[in-house]
Amino acid sequence: MAKKTTTSQKTTPRQSKSRTRTPFRIGIMGGTFDPVHYGHLLAAEQARCEFKLEEVVFVPTGNPPHKITWEMSSAEHRYMMTMLATATNPHFDVSRTEIERKGTSFSIQTIREFQAEYSDNDAEIFFITGFDAVMELLTWSEPMEVIKRATVIAVTRPGYDSKQLHAALGGKVLSRIRLLQAPALAISSTDIRRRVSMGLPIKYLLPEPVEKYIIKNGLYKSAAR
Ligand code: ATP
Ligand code: MG
Repeated sequence: MAKKTTTSQKTTPRQSKSRTRTPFRIGIMGGTFDPVHYGHLLAAEQARCEFKLEEVVFVPTGNPPHKITWEMSSAEHRYMMTMLATATNPHFDVSRTEIERKGTSFSIQTIREFQAEYSDNDAEIFFITGFDAVMELLTWSEPMEVIKRATVIAVTRPGYDSKQLHAALGGKVLSRIRLLQAPALAISSTDIRRRVSMGLPIKYLLPEPVEKYIIKNGLYKSAAR
């Protein structure tokens, strides 16, 4: 098991650490995490267990390339909430690499950074995404490089339509993606933001410290979110 390190002040993806075996299997879970919720945590944990990952590093986005339809919370708020949510899992960590990055942030840059950092240790990178995100894989920057450098784990819900994924990506790309079925979790950050703005409860959708952080900092009150 990898020892949890404090990434709070770092701009590099991860600190070097001693590893017990090679290759070091590391999962990257990217997202806006506005806010982070149990859907993210469950997907990451499921991927960690299924693919025997030493750890999963959550990487909150800086300036994401895709269009954002709400007024995104500050990077520091999203980072803090992700730290709070992952604190109790010794296999989870949080990286500041994307929020410290200037300009638009692309997943392929993050994958390259992690690979460079672990180059001495023959790291195997796993990139964990939800079904909705992987459907758009071909619109990402350098998608073929992404699937060459990392094993993409697409977290799907029971009963999802694999034909949809085949139609969106084609068989060749799809063959490079590992599918992972997670329990049906209809939780989304969009719904949580909407609930807060309407004064509806968000309890049991996300960890309690994150719920408290949202209330304390008055996040998502505006109906525009
Ligand atoms: P939003 O509603 O603002 O888009 P989100 O809930 O989709 O937020 P993101 O930060 O956009 O959260 O997602 C980060 C990653 O987690 C993406 O790969 C996304 O597909 C995945 N993800 C989001 N919600 C779930 C869920 N309930 N189960 C599994 N994966 C999820
Ligand atoms: Mg999303």
